[in-house]
Order: sequence, then C-alpha cells, then structure tokens
Amino acid sequence: MPIDIKNDSPDIALKKLKARESILRQFEEIAQLGSWEVDLVTKRSIWSKKSYEIYGLPYGSDVSIDTFFTMVLPAYLPKAKELFAQAMQTGKMLKFTCKLRRTDGEVRDFFINARVIYDAEKNPLKLIGTTQDITEISAIKEEAKDLATLLEHSSNEIYIVDMESLDYLYVNEGASAALGYTKEELLHMNVRDVSPFISTEEIKYLRKSLKNTKHAIVRSVHQRKDASRYPVQAYIHTLEYKHKHAYVIFDTDFSEIVRLEEEHKEQAELMEYQAYHDTLTGLPNRALFKDRLQQIIITSKRYKQKFALLFIDLDQFKKINDSLGHHVGDEVLIETAKRFQTILREEDTLSRLGGDEFTVILKNIKTKKDIAKVAQKLINSMKKPLATKHHTLHISSSIGISTYPDDASTQNDLIKFADTAMYKAKEEGRNNFQFYSSEMTERAFERVVLENSLRVAVKEKQFEAYFQPQYDAQKETIVGMEALVRWIHPHVGIISPGEFIPLAQESGLIIEIDKLVMQQAMEQFSQWYEKGLYPGVLALNLSMRQLNENNFITDLLETMDTYNFKASWLELEVTEGQVMSNPEQSIKKLSRLSKLGIEIAIDDFGTGYSSLSYLKKLPLSKLKIDQSFIRDIPKSEDDIAITKAIIALGKSLNLKLIAEGVETKEQRDFIVDNRCEYIQGYYYSKPLNSEAITHLLEAN
Ligand code: C2E
Ligand code: CA
Ligand code: CA
Repeated sequence: MPIDIKNDSPDIALKKLKARESILRQFEEIAQLGSWEVDLVTKRSIWSKKSYEIYGLPYGSDVSIDTFFTMVLPAYLPKAKELFAQAMQTGKMLKFTCKLRRTDGEVRDFFINARVIYDAEKNPLKLIGTTQDITEISAIKEEAKDLATLLEHSSNEIYIVDMESLDYLYVNEGASAALGYTKEELLHMNVRDVSPFISTEEIKYLRKSLKNTKHAIVRSVHQRKDASRYPVQAYIHTLEYKHKHAYVIFDTDFSEIVRLEEEHKEQAELMEYQAYHDTLTGLPNRALFKDRLQQIIITSKRYKQKFALLFIDLDQFKKINDSLGHHVGDEVLIETAKRFQTILREEDTLSRLGGDEFTVILKNIKTKKDIAKVAQKLINSMKKPLATKHHTLHISSSIGISTYPDDASTQNDLIKFADTAMYKAKEEGRNNFQFYSSEMTERAFERVVLENSLRVAVKEKQFEAYFQPQYDAQKETIVGMEALVRWIHPHVGIISPGEFIPLAQESGLIIEIDKLVMQQAMEQFSQWYEKGLYPGVLALNLSMRQLNENNFITDLLETMDTYNFKASWLELEVTEGQVMSNPEQSIKKLSRLSKLGIEIAIDDFGTGYSSLSYLKKLPLSKLKIDQSFIRDIPKSEDDIAITKAIIALGKSLNLKLIAEGVETKEQRDFIVDNRCEYIQGYYYSKPLNSEAITHLLEAN
C-alpha cells in the first residue's frame, strides 16, 4: 500500500517515513537485497545499509557509480557499462548478473536490477536499483546444471518413467544411443516397448518391492529399434519428477559382464575337467576314478549288485619309455586307451591312474565268467602290433581283478587286492589276467618285506660268492667252479638264491647282485692262481637282463682288468629259457662275449624249448644238463632217455656236456658210461665258501 504523506504535518510525515524505511530494511535483509540510488544531477549515490554489507564496504563511506565499476570483474565490465548506458538512454529496466570482487577479495555473483527515474520534463533524475548477492543460488544452479549435463551425456541409459503408465518422461543420450531411437521417439514410448519380455507379474512384483525399499536392482533384456537385444542391469529409484510420481531407471548394458561370466564358467568347467582327467588320454584320472569307485560302491550296495575292478599294467612299458623315449611312450598310452575303450561298454569306467596303470570298473556284473571275458578281450586287444610314428611295438598287458562284494567292500581294499592280483599276473609270465585270492595278500606282503630287505642287502653288500667245483668225470679232477651267491642275512643267516633270485630278477636288483658276485669271484680266482692253486674255469651265472645293460661288457672288462683275471678263465652261464625268449638278440649279444675269448654255457638245458637252428647259430661251448633229469636216474626210464638224447644232441653240435645235480655213485657212473665229460653235484661237493674251497684245492 503506497504511503501518502502530502497532507501530514512534518512530524507525522517524518514518523511515517521512518516506519516505511524500517520495513524496507527488513525486506532487504530477507531477500539479501541491497537498494541504492544515484542522483544523476549531483552524481551523488545513496546506498542502503544492506548494500554496503553486500559490497563489503564500510557503512556510510563515499560511494559512486564508479565504486561499483571498479569492483566488477574485467570480464563483465564492458557489458555492465554498455547496459548502464543503454538503461540511461532508453529508460528501460536494467537487469544483469555479473561477478564482483569485494574489498575483502572475495568474488561473488550479483544480480543487478535498476531503472531511471525522470522528472516532469522527462529529464533523467535518478537511477534507482537493487543488488542481490546470488552467489549461493548460482552455485546450486551450476551444480544442478553440471549434474544434468553429466546424466544427459552419460553412456549409461537413464530414464525417468511415469510410475503409473510407465511412459518415458525423460531419456538421456545414452539411452537413445543404446536403443537406436531418437529421444523424441522414446518420449512417445513406454517401458514395455523397450523391455518386451518383462511380464505383468514381474512389473507387479517390482512395484510392490519399490514401495517398500524405494529402490531395486533387476536384470532384463532390452530390444533395440533394429530388433537386436542385449541384457541390462537396471537400478530403479522412486522420485518426484515435474510433480509426478516417477521412477528413475539407470540401465547398464550387461552383455560384457554376461560374456565374462560365461567365460568364467567355461574356464571353471575346463579347470574342473583338467583336475579330473588325464591330459594325455582324456580318461578320468586317479581322483575321478576314486570318486566313481566310491559312487559305484554306494549304488551296488543299495541295489545289491556286483562289480569288478580291473587293474591293468602294460608289460614292457618302462622299457619302451626308457629306450625309445617319452614321445613313443605317450603314443603307446594313447593308442592303448583307445583300444581299451572300444571294448568297454558306455557304463564301464576306464581310467588312467598314471604311468602305464589303467583301471576299469565293470558295473553290474553277474558272474566271474563275464569278467574273464572282458579281461581276455582287453588282453587280446593288445595282440595286434602297435604302430607308433617310427616303431612297430609288441606290447602285452597284465590284469589283476578284485570284485565287490566278494573280495572286499571298501575302496582301499578293492584297489589293493586288484593291484596284488595284477602282480600275480606279472609273476605268471605276464600277458594274462588273475582274479584276486586271499593267499595273494600274504604273498604280496612277504614280497614287499623281502624286496625291501633285499635293497638293504644290496646296499650293504650282504652277499657272498660260494663255489661249487666242477669235475672231469673220468679223471675225477677239478676243472672249474660255479660261483653261487649266498645272502648272508645279519639276523636270518645264510639264505639260498632260490628264495630271492626270482624277486631280484623282477626288481632289477639282480644286476647289482651279479656285479658283486663277479667281483668277489674274480678276485678270489686271481688269488688262487697267484698262490699256485688250480681252480680251473670260473662259471658265472648271468641273467640276460644284465647282458642287455648298455655298459655290461665295459664293466666286465674293467673288473677283469682290476683283478688281473684272464678271459680264458671265464665261462658265462645263461639259462636256456632266457636265451630262447629272444634268440636273435641272444645271438648278437653272446657273440660279442665269445669274441673276447669267453666261453658260453647253456644252463638248465632241457627245461626250455630250444630250436635246433638257433642252437647251431649261438656261440656256445657247453650244455648243462638240468638236474631235474639227473635226479631220478636210474629210476626213471624217461629221464634216462632224455639225458641220453641231450648228450647225443650236444655231441652232434660239438658241444661240451656237464651234468648238474649228480648226487650218487650210480648217477656218476651213468654219466661216465654215456660219455658226458663233466659233472657238478653233491656227489663231489656242495657249494662251499672260499675258505673251504681253498682247503679243497690245497688238498689236491
Ligand atoms: P643253477 O645255476 O642251476 O645252480 C645250481 C644249483 O643246483 C645250485 O643251487 C646248487 O647248489 C644246486 N646243486 C648243485 N649240485 C646239486 C646236487 O647234487 N643236488 C641238489 N639238490 N642241488 C645241487 P643254488 O646255489 O641254490 O642256486 C640256485 C639257483 O640260483 C642257481 O641255479 C642259479 O640259477 C641261481 N643263482 C645262484 N647264484 C647266482 C648268481 O650269482 N647269479 C645269478 N644270476 N643266479 C644265481
Ligand atoms: Ca648255473
Ligand atoms: Ca642249472
């Protein structure tokens, strides 16, 4: 309401004016607004108290329009001056914002509002105006603007949708770019157009949960304008937008994460596969085998079924690996796995435990015959020569079998027993299968104990060479000695070779043992010769295995050299069985020895299957008639006939003949009558230690 003071007394008029002034000041304070006027005639300025405060000047100090211009930041000055000049000329309302540096150095945003007042003759009288400090307001505006820009340009999709209709009220550039619609198009669309797979139920559920929590995270699929699709993760919030209940939705394209998730899954699956499979053959490995075995035990128990566990070991694998290399070994394993697999049923588990060890679990088996059939098929599958890149190999396998629940009902026992049976198969000459029996366990235990102590014995050289003299049957004089090993066990005493030689052969320890015997015997022979005694020829038992050692001949020559032992003093005995197991190779190896002047005798002759043609080709000098033929002479007609035949054969091949195991006078006479030149047997002497032999030689 305008205040009329024209008709008031000066006192009252002054009072009224003061009151008006006071109200103005209050307005200024509330609006952070300072008022001012410039007398355009006198150029004097009048500023309100609030104005001084806003500009940071002491109240009442001299101010003019120039005071204002000196404070305006240079960037705003030309515009400010121009606007002021314009306002003076046109009389129009002047409005502008600018930044000022106050006397305290602080820069603030001001909003200036001013107008020219004219007198009755239209001459400009005053410029009156207000200054508002809008620093805080512009800061908030600025921030809001920044935020809006940020959201607008964000690569994430941002939508504001009407809570009821789900129509889009706002979409950002990110949304338009992702979907291929223009923003205008989208603003005429609805959430369901973009997420066509979202069901009414889902929306219902979402609305409900958003009511409670105000925000939610969901995954859905967006469909672009070109109908292609991509997964999104949506973060939804409730808000008020332009006086409407709305949802703001932040959507992130999820395809990369989905891809990574899938990649992870695949990787995890691969890792799991690798953890449970043998990389070479792709078969289940030990871990998976054990897992399956456990499963089968459980199901077999429940359904009262039988199953069999087969342990398969390739017979010559180590040799192949060692001599031809791991590549060849790998090829063999891969091919073996293939062959086995073609024989087995889908439900049988073939695994590779490592090395050349395979296992098969035969599920739901009715009879032992069924198992035997499969085992035989597995063995037969190896009969066909196995062709690798550069070699054709002949490989066989030995199989041990344990059955559930007959032999055992626990994993460990089934494995142990199948393994034991497999060793039995090896013992039985390989290339066969054996069912487990309880006696095997005891034997296997003994074997393990024996093998361990045998190793210790080799290390501690608990062996001693005994000698058994060989006689000229007619003259009854010593012509040689066979070295026979004895194991002098620290607790057990003397152990004869029959008890440990087979295991020593199998474990390879025989090589070390024979080396020891050779050294002792050669040393002893040299000493006897040096003393002027005559022990004749030293007969050493030699396993083919040792002959196949690469450095055997070098070792032999070195030992001979060490003990001053002459080649002509030496005879090597190889059993018929071993020679004939690979006659071609025996011919090659033995010829090299024969060339050194060393004689070769065939031991245990008559127990193996010699072929006459090979006998002719072998560089032999002697046949040893096996003691099993002599034992029952003269009682057994058959043995008499065989012995006579062997002697005849030897003569025809121009070989020397020696009879082993001659114990009686009758046997000796029979031998002499049949013109066999040499005899070795208890009839003359048992194997004796060197001390006893020394006495014997000295007595001669
Ligand atoms: P072998 O080579 O056939 O040795 C002859 C075996 O017959 C010896 O048994 C000997 O004691 C035994 N013997 C000799 N005369 C008679 C007799 O009149 N009656 C009876 N009943 N037996 C007689 P030994 O010493 O127990 O050796 C057994 C086998 O062990 C040997 O059979 C040989 O194959 C093997 N062996 C012994 N020492 C060695 C060795 O140093 N190296 C290798 N590789 N094998 C050896
Ligand atoms: Ca012998
Ligand atoms: Ca013999």
